[in-house]
Amino acid sequence: MDPFSYAKASDPAAAIAAHAQDRQLAFIAGGTDLLGLMKDRAALPERLLDINGLPGMGQIASLPDGGLRIGALVRMSDAAAHVEIRQRFPVIAEALLLSASGQLRNMATIGGNILQRTRCAYFRDEDGLACNKRRPGSGCSAIEGANRNHAIFGWSADCVATHPSDAAVAFAALDATVLVRGVTGERSIPFAEFHRLPGTTPERDTVLEHGDLVIALDVPGSVEGRASHYLKIRDRESYEFALVSVAAAVAVGGGRFHSVRLALGGVAHRPWRLGAAEIALRGASLDDPRSLELAIATSFADARSLSRNAFKVQLAQRAALRALQIAGGRA
Ligand code: SF4
Repeated sequence: MDPFSYAKASDPAAAIAAHAQDRQLAFIAGGTDLLGLMKDRAALPERLLDINGLPGMGQIASLPDGGLRIGALVRMSDAAAHVEIRQRFPVIAEALLLSASGQLRNMATIGGNILQRTRCAYFRDEDGLACNKRRPGSGCSAIEGANRNHAIFGWSADCVATHPSDAAVAFAALDATVLVRGVTGERSIPFAEFHRLPGTTPERDTVLEHGDLVIALDVPGSVEGRASHYLKIRDRESYEFALVSVAAAVAVGGGRFHSVRLALGGVAHRPWRLGAAEIALRGASLDDPRSLELAIATSFADARSLSRNAFKVQLAQRAALRALQIAGGRA
């Protein structure tokens, strides 16, 4: 790890101004991803500004519409145990509890969780292998290499990485927004627009600019939130990133789906909403798995697998069906 300086921030405006003016400065909160990136030399900030002491970012509060504002500095374990999150949005609590380990969840923050970087082995490797995300213009080793864990949607010739956050998949399904404060003030970014597809600039994971600070996640109140479920498929149950995951949130009446929200993790550079399937599932019977399968399949027409991950196309559809059935059973 290279040398770096460390300071604590106490004033949000001053922290944002410092970050905007200094490209070698990085915010640090839980540090559970950033310190790993620094050890791997995939991030080399010269200055760390500790934002743990910033006011107003460590609480969970109710919103007027029945939703919740989850401060960016709320620890994953605290959010997972929060009674309102567990009751109103079980998909968030489940996604958090299936993330990382207990020790990591005690340190890691909600803001840091959605900002964590890909687990692509070439990106994390410091041996100088081609990786456009780590070294723009160097190429992509994964596209013809070890790509079993990589994307089947939205990838480009420059990057086929996936986003590793579980909670982000739940936030995407629930139509959350990200509250960001920058040098020009505050703005809300719809979760679906927060993470980028790789295109020709995979080094950028999100639409954030230097000087932006994530303040909170706003999760709107919804009937679907209460009947929700997070299903994660991984190589080992104890502690692993998703091969495929599903966040499902539904409203049901008379044994049929009135509305469905489905998002996948582990399949793209950002959480992947199954918009076509959500439309096709409206009115479908919970007791007709074949029609549910066909509706889910409508969102897989544009799936493009790589040399070693074709299994994900079927696995993701089967996982979506199972998550949908479990969420439907909670309605
Ligand atoms: Fe790098 Fe993306 Fe290719 Fe992985 S998939 S090697 S992160 S460019």
